[in-house]
Amino acid sequence: MTTAVQRAPRITSDGAVRIAAKLYGLRVSAEPLPSERDQNFLLRLITSREESPSSLTPSPCLHPEGEEKKSGYGPEPSSADGQFVLKIANAEEAFEFLELQNQLIRFLAASKIELEFARIVPTKTAADIAKIKDENGSEHFVRLLTWLDGVCLAEVKPHGRRLLASLGRSLAQMDAALAEFDHPAAHRFFYWDLRNANIARELTGLLPHSRRKLVERFFGEWEKIDWSSLRFSVIHNDANDYNVLVDESERRVNTVLDYGDVVYSATVCNLAVALAYLMLDKPDPIGAAGQVVAAYHETYPLTGREIDVVYALAVTRLCCSVCYAAKQTRCAPDNEYLNISNAPAWALLDRLSDIAGDWPTRVFRYACGLPVVSQKYARQRRASADLIEERKRHTGPSLSISYQSPLHIVSGSRQYLYDSAGRRYLDCVNNVAHVGHSHPYVVRAASEQMAMLNTNTRYVHENLIEYAERLTATLPEPLSVVYLVCSGSEANELALRLARGHTGRNDAIVVEGAYHGNTSAMIDLSPYKFDGPGGRGCPSWVHKVPMPDAYRGAHRGAGAGKFYAADVAEAVRQGDDVAAFFCESALACGGQIILPPEYLREAFAAVRAVGGVCVADEVQTGFGRAGEHFWMFETQDVVPDIVTLGKPIGNGHPLGAVITTPEIAASFANGMEYFNTFGGNPVSCATGLAVLNVIRDEELQLNALEVGEYLKAGVRELQDRHALIGDVRGAGLFLGIELVRDRETLEPADSEATHVVERMKERGILLSTDGPLHNVIKIKPPLVFSRVNADLLIASLDSLLKKTRQY
Ligand code: PMP
Repeated sequence: MTTAVQRAPRITSDGAVRIAAKLYGLRVSAEPLPSERDQNFLLRLITSREESPSSLTPSPCLHPEGEEKKSGYGPEPSSADGQFVLKIANAEEAFEFLELQNQLIRFLAASKIELEFARIVPTKTAADIAKIKDENGSEHFVRLLTWLDGVCLAEVKPHGRRLLASLGRSLAQMDAALAEFDHPAAHRFFYWDLRNANIARELTGLLPHSRRKLVERFFGEWEKIDWSSLRFSVIHNDANDYNVLVDESERRVNTVLDYGDVVYSATVCNLAVALAYLMLDKPDPIGAAGQVVAAYHETYPLTGREIDVVYALAVTRLCCSVCYAAKQTRCAPDNEYLNISNAPAWALLDRLSDIAGDWPTRVFRYACGLPVVSQKYARQRRASADLIEERKRHTGPSLSISYQSPLHIVSGSRQYLYDSAGRRYLDCVNNVAHVGHSHPYVVRAASEQMAMLNTNTRYVHENLIEYAERLTATLPEPLSVVYLVCSGSEANELALRLARGHTGRNDAIVVEGAYHGNTSAMIDLSPYKFDGPGGRGCPSWVHKVPMPDAYRGAHRGAGAGKFYAADVAEAVRQGDDVAAFFCESALACGGQIILPPEYLREAFAAVRAVGGVCVADEVQTGFGRAGEHFWMFETQDVVPDIVTLGKPIGNGHPLGAVITTPEIAASFANGMEYFNTFGGNPVSCATGLAVLNVIRDEELQLNALEVGEYLKAGVRELQDRHALIGDVRGAGLFLGIELVRDRETLEPADSEATHVVERMKERGILLSTDGPLHNVIKIKPPLVFSRVNADLLIASLDSLLKKTRQY
């Protein structure tokens, strides 16, 4: 290792200019670029193909058999903006290895990868590789590559979701392509090959005493790796943050440079090396790495064993880096390149040493949608058939169960659920597991707080305050007072009390088909229930208005909002005791209906004109699902008086919230205490905070927007081909597909919808139906839902609809 660095070429910029002229006929200026073992120069073209005198003695390189190596390209060099990289190899570099690099670049350029690759510029005599002698008489191979534009990943800040995903995808595409590539020179012994980390390990004696133990501990983890269980292939092996070029405006990776570390090794090492550098200087290194792993896995799936070792390998790379740097600074104290990543690497190693042993692997398993907790920790399972029988015996018959043949789900991760047989299902309907099933950050936040304290709100606790601050910060003024409860039903129940307390009135206006909860008052407030089987009809204090359904309702098309709002105004006129108008910001049980423009604005105005209170039920629709907005009511350009929250708020933890104005809260404080044993406890608040953090850190609202739009466009294309699809609607990742037998009469295709849901389940995709006519397929998945998931859903729907006859 040291000799290679010592035998790095020593060519001056003038020398590089002369090489360009003599070998390539290019008149250029030259600027040195950093390199550890080789020398690279950025050449800028002045004019081309001019002879220039040289003190060097270049000669076209001969193929080992004595035959001149012919390039696949014509003799005229070209680079889009006249820039090239002149690569002068270390004197120890073998010709075959440079040949491997050239072949590999060409192989990748010819494969279907979203990245750009340099072109290899031949010499005047059409050789891809030439040889020069420097002034000391030592020989070096020379290559010229076209320059690729971009900014180093290291210089782009911050690394957002899109960029991290692009890095993961790029690496995965390269690795997938290189699975088909091989070259004898890649099968070499190389000290940066993570299999050979023992070479670095022997240098730990050179490290400062205080840090030696830390590095030795990490090498101990490396030692446990079972290399025989991993896949092998030729890998780039050095996607460090200076070798990854980014298109800053597009926030995507342009290319990965520098093939000097290519080696045949465990494929996962390529990802591990990239992660090692990506984690540098990050506020949450593991979270950022997790996002890269997720995108990698979706493009080129990792094996379970690879997922379980990638973190140990990434840390090993950092350890190798600090060990080699310790050695090299002894030999070449003035080589700046050696120290580039040294200080941040130490800082990162220090931070990682504080992280619990299995945490990174939990995050990475989650990133890959694998159950985070190994099945071996699960309780002894009972047969699924027995469970169904026992369930019937011990739970009320009104408790329903999905699917003709029920599922026995035992674990969840990300947007996936796993049944007791280990089969994976894509969850397209669970809007409770908002940031992903069993998200490790949420699980950790809840369990750490649970281990510390869980009690009621009669004590002061920072979690309650911090959560109230964070939650209200997402809402417009004057929505600044929070009541924490345990469910959406409780939230709406409290909202009704607040409205009654504030107005001194009793009645409520609700939308047909609406569902607001399971308590007695909420059943009374939910036409979905009181008008349905077992329901006792509309109570006298409740006034129903028609669903603002611009597809099937009395008023259709773009201008329908005002007409439906007039129904609310009419209800206000007829009732003289209206305290509140309850409306979901998009109608979920009503059939995934997006409110037509102007609806809430005009309806709210009518309600407020008589002193009524407007309640936005965001239980199904909130927390970024709408895509363009954090709250669905914002799509209607209104500010409600009360907002009720539930389902996604705790990612499955029983949590709900009511947020209102100081004025309404003051009216409610009439002397009667509001006490809720569980509402607002420190565990619930820690959980809610973690959910907000994940939505922000993983940019899930943006994902909802991008993937939601992509999915909606894809399903709309299906609508052109399948007459059964009457309407496709939605915002972000809140979508509905309404099935009809006749696009004129809109005869609901309810049994067809059930058929589609059942058959999709057989294909491993979970959907369900909704709407008063049971003919709307609803899509409201965890917000980590990806384009790949969307593609699968669209393709599966397409093939199924081809076979679905109408009843
Ligand atoms: N409001 C709406 C719009 C809902 O969809 C639901 C639940 N489906 C609720 C309120 C009640 O929430 P929970 O089941 O948490 O009590």
